[in-house]
Amino acid sequence: MGLFTNTEFHSLEDLLVDQLKDLYDAENRLVEALPKMAEAAYTPKLREAFSSHLAETRNHVARLDQAFTALGVPPERETCAAMKGLISEGSQVIDAKGDLVVRDAALIAAAQRVEHYEMAGYGSARTFAQQLGLREIAALLQSTLNEEGGADKKLTELAVTQINVEALRSKTASV
Ligand code: FE
Ligand code: ZN
Ligand code: FE
Repeated sequence: MGLFTNTEFHSLEDLLVDQLKDLYDAENRLVEALPKMAEAAYTPKLREAFSSHLAETRNHVARLDQAFTALGVPPERETCAAMKGLISEGSQVIDAKGDLVVRDAALIAAAQRVEHYEMAGYGSARTFAQQLGLREIAALLQSTLNEEGGADKKLTELAVTQINVEALRSKTASV
């Protein structure tokens, strides 16, 4: 939600549109941020995970465009202060020095905060759309919600099966 704008809610549909604008800003910011996360990743599988989620994220933007079209409102971004903050925490990890595998574990921790934030946003918006009887929009939002959940799961798996395990022992590659 915009920090310095006076948002007015007169209906649940107003609220849905507001939530979509926030998500639209968040997703566009991620399209910029994910290539930097991918570039910073030391473990090839993590790099791949970020790259494949970048492709999905571009599609999340496209789905939001479809939702705006279905609602007949112009696609507008409303600054998502939370995503700005999460991305700024991710940038601190990217710039961090030290063991590269431990930094990968930190990149995952930062990325999972992003995925959970998105899941919360899409979950609420999907439910508003359902309650408004906007089934097409609800389905679009559900598809993205599923992919955010999938990305989160993939990161957990990579952390517990490989990266955290290596980070525990790692005293090698460093920047
Ligand atoms: Fe997304
Ligand atoms: Zn926000
Ligand atoms: Fe995501």
